[in-house]
Amino acid sequence: MSGWEEKVRTVVPYVPGEQPAVTKGLIKLNTNELPYPPSSRVMEAITGLPGESLRLYPDIMEEPLLSRLAERYGVSKDEIFIGVGSDDVLAMAFLTFFHSDRPVLFPDITYSFYDVWAELYRIPYETVPLLPDFRIEPSDYFRENGGIVLANPNAPTSLSTEPSGIEDVLKANPDSVVIVDEAYVDFGGETVLPLVPKYENLLVVQTFSKSRALAGMRIGFAIGNKKLIGYLNDVKFSVNSYTMNRTAVAAGAAALSDEEYFKKTVNKVIETRERAKEILPGMGFRVLDSKTNFLFVSHEHIVAADIYRALREKQIYVRHFAKPRIDNYLRISVGTDEEMQALYAALHEITG
Ligand code: PMP
Repeated sequence: MSGWEEKVRTVVPYVPGEQPAVTKGLIKLNTNELPYPPSSRVMEAITGLPGESLRLYPDIMEEPLLSRLAERYGVSKDEIFIGVGSDDVLAMAFLTFFHSDRPVLFPDITYSFYDVWAELYRIPYETVPLLPDFRIEPSDYFRENGGIVLANPNAPTSLSTEPSGIEDVLKANPDSVVIVDEAYVDFGGETVLPLVPKYENLLVVQTFSKSRALAGMRIGFAIGNKKLIGYLNDVKFSVNSYTMNRTAVAAGAAALSDEEYFKKTVNKVIETRERAKEILPGMGFRVLDSKTNFLFVSHEHIVAADIYRALREKQIYVRHFAKPRIDNYLRISVGTDEEMQALYAALHEITG
């Protein structure tokens, strides 16, 4: 290894789900995007942007998105942090809040970006095994630590934890920041946002990528005590003052203005998901009780990797994680009813 290479900050990067060039006939159920387009108000807002405005740097406080978020979630503007997708928000939160020699705790099976950020920032961490049924046991987090991260609902398990369980974790950990990643909460989980006024060490992170159909725009946000948000902004402004571009800010604000469309599309996904929970067991699948826009399933006879490959041959993309404990499961994003019908037909052929 050359001398300069010894000085490189090396890291094994996170591997996102494939984004194949969208070709006709391909069914993409591998990255948990919403199968419906965003509200029509989003395109109106984007095309309505005066070209002249792009000459100027964006507003560092991301107005009018910040005000809309404050209205929608009933918090003040200094309790909100906005970032380039929740990945950016979470990366900033790891960098800001996890600065001790004690290990940050998160489940052994969870969003696989957490350990990547910990490795990147040289944050010590320990993974806490989920229970055998893949649930989170709050009391497993009652021990000394440098911070806690819980996805709720969790991914890829799709299971949610009761807010009372998260509150138990908060009560036991007044000296650590507890991050609750609620990327999928709009699909039937229960948010812990009401706990924000009670716990100054709670940071709740959400995204526009799933329930608001804006994965391509990259908008995420966090809500927490204003002291917490202040520290987060200090770090952000020490890396890049202008993370959010004008188009994303306009798109995000427009999406929040159409609550009716939001509810309609989210409910549609929930209906399709609940139907899938009835149909898939009839084909030999065990389906976890998803509160998200994806299903975590395992077949009684056929190994997941084989089903994954067979679906792929039929141009249906789902996600398979070759990891301990979950390598016999598939994560299938909930698509439109038509896409799900095609999925069922394909699975029928594969599972015989
Ligand atoms: N948290 C979880 C649990 C996720 O599954 C994802 C999506 N990959 C994210 C955060 C990040 O989503 P985004 O950056 O698009 O907001």
